[in-house]
Amino acid sequence: LIFARVSSHQAADLVVQLSPAPKSKPAEVDFGSVFTDHMLTVEWSLTEGWQAPLIRPFGNLSLHPACSSLHYGIQLFEGLKVYRGDDGRLRLFRPTLNMKRMASSAKRACLPAFDQSELLECIRRLVEIEQDWVPHSNSASLYIRPTFIGTEPSLGVKKPARALLYVILCQAGSYFDTKNEAVSLWADPKYTRAWKGGSGDCKMGGNYGCSLFAQYEAEDYGCQQVLWLYGDDQQITEAGTMNIFLHWINEDGEEELATPPLDGIILPGVTRQSILDITREWNEFLVSERYLTMAQLCSALRQQRVREMFGSGTAAMICPIGHIFYQGENLHVPCQDQQITSRLAKELTDIQVGARTHARTQKT
Ligand code: PMP
Repeated sequence: LIFARVSSHQAADLVVQLSPAPKSKPAEVDFGSVFTDHMLTVEWSLTEGWQAPLIRPFGNLSLHPACSSLHYGIQLFEGLKVYRGDDGRLRLFRPTLNMKRMASSAKRACLPAFDQSELLECIRRLVEIEQDWVPHSNSASLYIRPTFIGTEPSLGVKKPARALLYVILCQAGSYFDTKNEAVSLWADPKYTRAWKGGSGDCKMGGNYGCSLFAQYEAEDYGCQQVLWLYGDDQQITEAGTMNIFLHWINEDGEEELATPPLDGIILPGVTRQSILDITREWNEFLVSERYLTMAQLCSALRQQRVREMFGSGTAAMICPIGHIFYQGENLHVPCQDQQITSRLAKELTDIQVGARTHARTQKT
């Protein structure tokens, strides 16, 4: 396993208690349903600071019923994957970006700061212990779910004086049922995922719990995901739990790959950043972080200026968009060629499984 640095005392204090009864590994599983044999837990309190990290058999947590994460949603999480290469080695994909995003979510949630490289080293150790759980396959991987919760045992709405950081792992195949098929989106401004001054740019559970209602309404319309719009001009922001990209001929007649800017309402996706890095290196068309509205998209669709549209995220990686249901109309988005989507999916997979090195994506 590569990428993590071993240094200061926290990871060096790691205590490992191995499970006496490892489970047998299922052949194929639904995303997020079967967890590995061990988990990492690290406790924090205002009076004693961070305790020694512990890798222990996977099991239930014991929480005080007044626990602040249960009442006020003082919590956050992350999501990244470990991939097995053809060379048999295990690789994390740009995990320092996840640590950075986790630190910024922790700050926003008023949870304590943690040492990002120490946590990464503890995760590396956990993955090493669970290495047999990483599928021997290019299309499957092991998903890592770091979680950080306030465990303050009192009902006051305040900064928690106790907290628990833990990491669990589960096998991940393909996230969507459709496997590489284009997804359909439901676009309606009646629900808002995130707003200026809010916490949409942080990975906090509340953002996701609140989005469920709209997700089910999208399904009522026969769509798989919500296309989240924002503001009076109906800016296109994200698709479900993915960042969104539009490859088109823009209003000025230029070929452009565009994604909304990180202005506080967009989750700074690791896949999003990697797509920007890779396509800027291709240097074949304009790559922009810019606002995109439904009006702009509709007129581009009418004028056949749209080449492709896709979502990006760790779970589904690159996900072509085929239809958008908007104002009673089912807009068809071209996705037959999947030129950019399939080329990007190949480049990203090659980097993730180590078939190809990439200066920027490999460094972190
Ligand atoms: N947007 C949202 C709202 C998400 O939850 C995610 C998943 N973390 C993403 C975008 C994609 O981020 P990443 O590429 O880091 O998985």
